[in-house]
Order: sequence, then structure tokens, then C-alpha cells
Amino acid sequence: MPLAESCFPERPTFVTHLECSLTGERYEADRPHGLSRAGKPLLVRYDLEQLGRSLSPTELASRSPDLWRYREFLPVRRTQSIVSLGEVVTPLIAAPGLRTGSGDVFIKDESRLPTGSFKARGLCLAVSMAREFGLRRLALPTNGNAGAAMAAYAARAGMEAFVFCPEDTPEVNVREIAAQGAHVWRVNGLITDCGKIVAAGREAMNWFDCSTLKEPYRIEGKKTMGLELAEQFGWRLPDVIFYPTGGGTGLIGMWKAFEELQTLGWISGPLPRMVAVQASGCAPIVRAWESGAEFAEPWPNAHTVASGIRVPAAVGDFLMLRALRKSDGFGIAVDDADILQARDDVARREGLLLCPEGAATYAAYRAACRDGRVRSSDVAVLFNCASGLKYELPPATRALDRTQPIRFEDLLPETRNA
Ligand SMILES: *Cc1c(COP(=O)(O)O)cnc(C)c1O
Repeated sequence: MPLAESCFPERPTFVTHLECSLTGERYEADRPHGLSRAGKPLLVRYDLEQLGRSLSPTELASRSPDLWRYREFLPVRRTQSIVSLGEVVTPLIAAPGLRTGSGDVFIKDESRLPTGSFKARGLCLAVSMAREFGLRRLALPTNGNAGAAMAAYAARAGMEAFVFCPEDTPEVNVREIAAQGAHVWRVNGLITDCGKIVAAGREAMNWFDCSTLKEPYRIEGKKTMGLELAEQFGWRLPDVIFYPTGGGTGLIGMWKAFEELQTLGWISGPLPRMVAVQASGCAPIVRAWESGAEFAEPWPNAHTVASGIRVPAAVGDFLMLRALRKSDGFGIAVDDADILQARDDVARREGLLLCPEGAATYAAYRAACRDGRVRSSDVAVLFNCASGLKYELPPATRALDRTQPIRFEDLLPETRNA
């Protein structure tokens, strides 16, 4: 089947309302929303009882392997609203070379999604809902991948996209955003500064703010990572999930998925421990976790090679911290040097070129096994969130002069060092 669109039932969703994640205040579902009146993210709520009566894991198993197999768990009401670029179910790849003991290690490889990152999941839903509401102009602050995904889906939907990114955003990200027809600007500041520009321009530009967690649907798209994991593991979940945490949509979204599946009775037993991985140059959630705080303080002078997790302040901080606490998980920070070493190790051992953010999860896994926070017998999932090809790689500069005799034994590194 080419696209799920063709086989949608009349009523594909079971949304009842939206709810303030802090106060529980209810909001009507079928119109555009930003943050709640309390200034916190809104969460989409579903009639899970109805959902459970009309869908079963067995029926799910027969559907095509894309994000829309989970349509009943998603907020889109009208099939025509769907803006799709082929959101495949991403592979869960066993990585035996990364094990520290008897516990299996898997990499959930999100680089296979449209625009090469898992931001596609969230923006696919955000843009589809924007189409459902008749919105024409979208704006977003980004460290790169979110902007690229929004640009792609907006182009597909015939909408205008305005994107603001820090000036040191990876070159390829800025260019791919522009190539996909969005209006993109480099800003001399961090993603939080870009976010302020988007908020300030709302009146003048009449754009819809698609910032992380400031609109309620990106999180529903990211939720499908949790649904996929549950299904891929046969409705039992792994012991521990390492997630590179920036704005936190994925962490919060997966946790939401697990709670919905638990309510449905599709999964049982303890939920996985959620681990928020950050870089030591920008670790507001880890610091808040360690101090037992409910909210995180902004991180000054944020810096890391893992640009996707360089988020000094996040509006969903308390939701991430809640998921860590409820799941008996924790926050952990890793140095840039360990991130780059981890990327190198995984590429050489497993043939998977991770993005730095994904490599951070392996660095964190190694550290957590060493300090005993994770048992080497635990089944662990590491998230690779984007294609390693989007990032700067170490130079490879050796050249051969074909007009000179070639000493083949010199091509062996051992010979060279001998
Ligand atoms: C956005 C991003 C992250 C962080 O994801 P959140 O769900 O927003 O915390 C991690 N890695 C990459 C590559 C990203 O683009």
C-alpha cells in the first residue's frame, strides 16, 4: 500500500480535548493552540476506552510500516489534512559490539526518516494539524533539524515557513532549510534567543509559532517513537532508554505513549527507565535532576558539538523531570570528547555513523554501566536521532599520485608504523 491515506476510516482519531500539563485545565481540541494560560505545554487527551475497542495490537500488525499505522493515537481528524513524506517505521538495530555484559544493546535509528532526523515525526504532525486548521504561515526557532523538517513539510503543504537559527548552526542544516523553500535567518544568539524573535514577530507577521512544546502536536508525532518501540519489542519494553535531551519532546512524548499503552492494557510490567542524556557544556535538566528541583534553571554559556541538544532552557523541563522520576531514571551529562570518541567507536565497530547527539547516548550508556547506575545485563535502547552525514566529520586527506609507482605495502597502516 503506497500511503495510509487511501485506507483511512471515517473517524481516524479519538481526541477528546487538550489539557494543561501543569494545572490540568481543559481546552477545546479542534482549534489552534499555543501554550496554556499558565504558560505551560498543552497535552492532547484521547478517549482511550473507545480507542481500545476499535483497535487491537493484532489489527495493527497488518498495517503498512509507517507512522500512520498509529493514526488512532494521533490528533488528525481529516485524512485530507495529512502532509506526508513517507514516515517509515525506523529500524531497531542490535549492536552486539556495544554491549558491556549480557544485556542486549539496540540502536533506534531515526536517521531513516524524511529530512534525515526524527524531527520529521513532530513536524509532520504539526504541519498536518496546521493544514487542518487552515494556517498558511509557520515560524520556528531551531538548532537545524527541526527547521529542515518544518521547511520540508511546509513546502509539501504549500505553506510559508520562517526559520531562525543560531549563527553557528551546521552549514548543511541552514542550506537544506533554504533549499526546501523556507525563509531562513542566522541569528547571533542561541535557540532561546531565536525563540524570542518568533514570539515577538507573531503580531506583525501573523505566523503560527511551531516552537518545541509551544504547540501541542509535535509531541504527538514524537510519541510514535514510544509506540514503535513497544510494538517492535512485542509489547514488552526494554529496561532502559537513553535519549539525547534538548527541548525534551521525545522524552515526554515516549513517556506519554507508554502511559497511554498502559491505560489500554497493551503493555504490562515495569516501564523502562528513562535516561536524559545531555552534554556537559549544556546540561540544565541533569543539574535540576541532581538537585531534586521541579524546574530547571537556564544554563549559561551553553556549548557542545551536539548542536541538537544545545538547549539552555526548555518550557517542558518539569515534564522531563517528572518522566525521569516516575520511571526511576536519571539525567547524565557527557563531555564532547567522549561524544566524538563514541561516534568513532560505533562507526568502526558497527558500521553506523551516528549523529553527535546519538553518539552521546552511547557515551552515557558506557559511563552509566561503569558507575553502576545501569546493569550490564539490562536491555538498553540508544537513540540515534539524525543522520551522521549532516555533521562535520574529521578530515580524510590521504592522496595517491597515480603517475608514480605505488608501493602497496605502504597502504597498510601497520607497515607505515613499522
Ligand atoms: C532536536 C534534536 C534532539 C533533541 O530532541 P528533543 O526531543 O527536542 O529533546 C536530539 N538530537 C538531534 C539530532 C536533534 O535534532
